Amino acid sequence: MTQTARYTADSRDRVRDAVDMVALVSTRTELRRAGANSYFGRCPFHDERTASLHVSPDEKLYHCFGCSESGDPFKFVMQTEGVDFRGALESLAGRFGVTLQTEEEDPAAAAARQRRERLYSLLDRAATYYARCLWEAREAADAREHLLARGFSEEILREFRIGYAPSAWDRILVATRQAGYGDEELLAAGLAQRSRSRPGSVYDFFRAKIMFPTADARGRVRGFGGRTMEGGRMPKYINTPDGELYHKREVLYGIELARSAAAKAGRMILVEGYTDVLALHQAGIRNAAGIMGTSLTAEQVRELARLVGVVEICLDADRAGQDAALRAAQVAGSAGLELRVVPLPPGSDPGEVISGEGVDGLRRRMAESVPFVMFVVRLVLDRAELSSAEGKDRAFAELRSVLAPLPASALRDELIKLVAGALELSPARLATLLSNDREQSTIVPGGRVAVDPTVRAERSFLAMCVAAPEAGAAALASLDPGQAFTSAPLRRAALHLRGQLESPLAELPADDDELARSVADLVARAGRGGPVTADQLEHARLLLELACVERALARASSEHQPGITDLARRRQQVLDAIGAVSGRIEQVI
Ligand code: ZN
Repeated sequence: MTQTARYTADSRDRVRDAVDMVALVSTRTELRRAGANSYFGRCPFHDERTASLHVSPDEKLYHCFGCSESGDPFKFVMQTEGVDFRGALESLAGRFGVTLQTEEEDPAAAAARQRRERLYSLLDRAATYYARCLWEAREAADAREHLLARGFSEEILREFRIGYAPSAWDRILVATRQAGYGDEELLAAGLAQRSRSRPGSVYDFFRAKIMFPTADARGRVRGFGGRTMEGGRMPKYINTPDGELYHKREVLYGIELARSAAAKAGRMILVEGYTDVLALHQAGIRNAAGIMGTSLTAEQVRELARLVGVVEICLDADRAGQDAALRAAQVAGSAGLELRVVPLPPGSDPGEVISGEGVDGLRRRMAESVPFVMFVVRLVLDRAELSSAEGKDRAFAELRSVLAPLPASALRDELIKLVAGALELSPARLATLLSNDREQSTIVPGGRVAVDPTVRAERSFLAMCVAAPEAGAAALASLDPGQAFTSAPLRRAALHLRGQLESPLAELPADDDELARSVADLVARAGRGGPVTADQLEHARLLLELACVERALARASSEHQPGITDLARRRQQVLDAIGAVSGRIEQVI
């Protein structure tokens, strides 16, 4: 499919010929003449005090002796403005007055391209019309007042082409019909909608709205966000419906104005919503664009990855849709984009932070951005109910999907330590659980499956309870399953077995496969193990109790809690009891 026609090689050469290299580079840095064909200036690609960038106007080349960036005019524009080659070619052609010619295309492709160009110009015309209404129309007085009262300068509002759609039913229709556009084109551009009451007629899609034109990276308007003025039942914003040019998933509001600052900084700040973008740009933070909602789409990630290496999302923990956020992180990671979060105070947006703490306040928060996974892990732990075993299980289940895919790194180690502490596990054990959560085992060299020793002890104790139901019932009753079992499936099995030891497989809930599998496995093990003596059972029970006390000890010493002496004494008692039972078992054998 030919999206856009190729420009001829001759067009490229003519643009290169027309470029004034000194004028072009001078838009980014001040140049000083050093010879007939030689200029120097401070490099726009790295921070420096000396002038390392050399420009040769005749060859139309630049080279930095500091950071080794070099290239021709096209590369210069691509690098400084964050556009692709085609975008650079078009930009230079416009700046230096060259008409580009396209290679011959087939008639269908040519027609499709012409239609798109008409729709683009229709949307641009509409943006100009709405902007004029905002500043000139009497009925836009409230809108103007609202925007200025929110602290936006006329300069920033004009730069973003903020506009106003009048309340009448046909303003954009009339304005664009006069320019030769038909109803079908207005519908395709999302500027009109069909009337339900009067079949065949159309009316303006946006009425009595503050208008935010949404452009692509090349600055072409593709659609609008319209904000309702008065409160009430109407949604606050309506957007152009998805169509030929507008795709909600691709929108990065303000990208056309943020692009070059973002390319230079190597990072893009993402905020939620139109007015936050305006607030940041007005405050001089120009590498900011908007996503509508907290989720970052694959389309947005693709666009951003072309431009920057790091994306920082301003997120307030209250609003972070965790699932959406997680998907975003996965998408970004797979595109090689580093995703960081600028944590905001609960319930606030970047605009509010600026008005409350000033731009410096927001900059300070930006300097404290954290890797995305770190943000999510903290969020899950904050929300989890870590006082109960079930709460810990839920937190683990959520965190597993975050932690398990992380490659080995210092960050992963740090996160595992953080989570292990919160879940009261040793980091090594947590790493084991992450490597295979279902079987709770790891593959050791040679391909054998090694079960975690703690889990093995828990499992063999339960199997013994099943094998010796009478003594088992007493042993089970003496333990608190929430404390004694680290394995979630075994803990659930233990809860089921209390009161069911005589016939463990009876009364299993029909809809709980996991529980059924665990209990079935224990019954099978009990059958294989032969008769169990009271001492063997007690020995197994004491091992669980020892592990339990040791976990409590680890927790207490890491949190400097009192009661360590008591726990240490208890540990010694259990060890003594184990010694005594072991002695009896050995005598029998
Ligand atoms: Zn340089």
